[in-house]
Amino acid sequence: MTQSNGENPQRTRSGLRQIRDGIQSRSLRAKKRVENITKHDVKGFFRRNAFVIFTVAAVIIGIILGFALRPYNMSYREMKFFSFPGELLMRMLQMLVLPLLVSSLITGMAALDSRASGKMGMRAVVYYTTTTIIAVFIGIVMVLIIHPGKGSKDEFTKQQKIEQVSPADAFLDLIRNMFPPNLVEACTKQVTLPPHARSPSPYLSLFFISFSAPVPGSVNGVNALGLVVFSMCFGLIIGSMREQGQPLKDFFDCLNEAIMRLVAIIMWYAPIGILFLIAGKIVEMDDITSMGGQLGMYTVTVICGLLVHAIFVLPTLYFVVTRKNPFVFIGGLLQALITALGTSSSSATLPITFKCLEENNKVDKRVTRFVLPVGATINMDGTALYEALAAIFIAQVNDYDLNFGQILTISITATAASIGAAGIPQAGLVTMVIVLTSVGLPTDDITLIIAVDWFLDRLRTTTNVLGDSIGAGIVEHLSRHELQSKDPEVGNSVVEETDKKPYQLICQENEYENEKPADSKTKM
Ligand code: ASP
Repeated sequence: MTQSNGENPQRTRSGLRQIRDGIQSRSLRAKKRVENITKHDVKGFFRRNAFVIFTVAAVIIGIILGFALRPYNMSYREMKFFSFPGELLMRMLQMLVLPLLVSSLITGMAALDSRASGKMGMRAVVYYTTTTIIAVFIGIVMVLIIHPGKGSKDEFTKQQKIEQVSPADAFLDLIRNMFPPNLVEACTKQVTLPPHARSPSPYLSLFFISFSAPVPGSVNGVNALGLVVFSMCFGLIIGSMREQGQPLKDFFDCLNEAIMRLVAIIMWYAPIGILFLIAGKIVEMDDITSMGGQLGMYTVTVICGLLVHAIFVLPTLYFVVTRKNPFVFIGGLLQALITALGTSSSSATLPITFKCLEENNKVDKRVTRFVLPVGATINMDGTALYEALAAIFIAQVNDYDLNFGQILTISITATAASIGAAGIPQAGLVTMVIVLTSVGLPTDDITLIIAVDWFLDRLRTTTNVLGDSIGAGIVEHLSRHELQSKDPEVGNSVVEETDKKPYQLICQENEYENEKPADSKTKM
């Protein structure tokens, strides 16, 4: 003890010296590394992250340009000219959505057997339902706590007549849209009731079906739900046909590859389009300072709700299930998220979401092809949160006390309305009518929140895209065993060049080393 005590000061000194030497040598090495960074390394970094850098720069320049041009009070015509490059991006992306949605779902379903796709589908549905319910809950809690609708309704000016829609009829429309009688027409039209056939009764519950049987009409727009249902069934049948179905499988696989190559080209144009979309919107928006106190508080409440869901709930869910860093995963999605912010359309963002998930986050293509198109069509957490929150805000503005049953009705209808909403700009505002009608709130009051909807739409679309993408990551993790044990079928290029080697190795391992635990062979 004494001896050791006597040695202590020396030991301490030598220990300190060691630490100091360690720090010095480490800082020297770091210095050398910094000195050794060659032009080549810098170039490599920029090349790898070029899209993200350009896109972030586009957003910043777009905001600056938009605010710089606002004092010039452009005419409507000038504004349209100015936003033209942005409009072009929207059109290009929309052009790819239809073939991408159909071909990816067909190849995705054909690549899996019915058991694997059934399990994967079940996981996706459980994820969609859970996250949508959480989103609605957050929206309700936020609006009840912050209570943005305090004050009088007089501070709102714009009021227009908006027709009511019976929730029961809207529900039937949703099912009608799932089964389009004409596939070609489904690419251009959706079923909806003509205004005169909509029920005037505000208290029709969601499950009460009127037997006056209104005649369905149609509106322009892709019936994504119908195409999703058809493509899933079609893909499943092709997959079960084995050799006989191979030519069709190859055809859709090739179509999908070709579309993804087009996406790769359009991605170079995306930053320019996003710049002008954002700048154009800032130029044409109303004066924010004239926004009333209640509307301002409402905007803040929606933003807080969306932030809680996007920054806390979804990443936590991802971490709990996969045990991986959710923010690294979200980093890979940056370009898709910014595109969603710029376009306000989760459908139009779909091609970019595919690219980000498959190339940056290396999510299995059999999962993205299956989960993403379905998610973009029916899973809209941001929209569900917003619809529930906005409906209660309108009740608050009208001094209308909602009881528990009515809040529950709002939750159910907001969930259904988010499923029925198309992935296009401000679709949520349209389906809001169903939520308001379900509890007897005045549908005309939707006009009260129109002034800020263009902005909130961008944020909820970004949340929608994030929800779909994290869903793909979670479903891939949960389905890893099925994905590994499934043989890659002959000629099925769903397993692409980049994936081929590890995948073939895994299959050989499966053949010869069956005793290895499945987890040790996990790709992720
Ligand atoms: N714009 C949203 C989307 O495309 C839908 C909505 O209006 O909430 O996801």
